[in-house]
Amino acid sequence: MRDDHDGPQAADLERYGDAGVTCRGCGREVYDELEECPHCGAPVCGGGGGTPKWAVVTAAVLIVLLVLGALTAVLGRM
Ligand SMILES: [Zn+2]
Repeated sequence: MRDDHDGPQAADLERYGDAGVTCRGCGREVYDELEECPHCGAPVCGGGGGTPKWAVVTAAVLIVLLVLGALTAVLGRM
């Protein structure tokens, strides 16, 4: 049996070698501009630090609410 699909192939490493990230699904180096790992199909998060936009927006809203709450508490004591 030939080793056609297992392990990073030379051609892949050559093609993807530049901007590689480690796939969370299979642990192989994949090109970080791909949306999915070509080996296992897991989503690849490249460059963004892995934080989804909705999480950033939610955090920002929570911070605003906290500040507003703190301000309200301070103003209420005056
Ligand atoms: Zn993978």
